[in-house]
Amino acid sequence: MSKKYVLKFSGLKNGIHEFEYTIDKKLFEEFDCEEVLGANLSMKVNLDKSEKQLKLDFHIQGTLQVICDRCGDEMDLNMNFNRVLYVEFGQQFEEQDVDLYVIPFNESSLDLTPFVYEYVTLEKPMRCVHGETEGNTQFCNKEVIEILEKPIEEVEKETDSRWDALKNLKF
Ligand SMILES: [Zn+2]
Repeated sequence: MSKKYVLKFSGLKNGIHEFEYTIDKKLFEEFDCEEVLGANLSMKVNLDKSEKQLKLDFHIQGTLQVICDRCGDEMDLNMNFNRVLYVEFGQQFEEQDVDLYVIPFNESSLDLTPFVYEYVTLEKPMRCVHGETEGNTQFCNKEVIEILEKPIEEVEKETDSRWDALKNLKF
């Protein structure tokens, strides 16, 4: 795991602190995520530090390159969303709730990597299609769509003629 998203909070005064990160495809490669081909995202994290708690406000914005579920070509997926994570201190690492994470008292930093990965992949819609996701004005691969939209009989006929060609082969 890279150390790119490790947020060191020890030594910081109580109050708000801002952090900025960039997210590229390396993050998804670390998790062997094949659904994401590339990423060009920026992430701002506002840390509100107090004695008993860290409150992290994430804002993630940019584009993700994914595979179109209709034509199979690459497409851009626009992202612009916020997440909040509360971090409290306890005896051990523990995910108490979707937005509440407990870390041991003696920890001085928090690795945001798994959180960032989860936020982005969960934000990705189940179905991504050119022109159908928000703000996407790209078009599907025309050649692929022509094949997909061909009446079934025609496709079958083509398949049949291929079989015929095979039948005519003399072994
Ligand atoms: Zn498409």
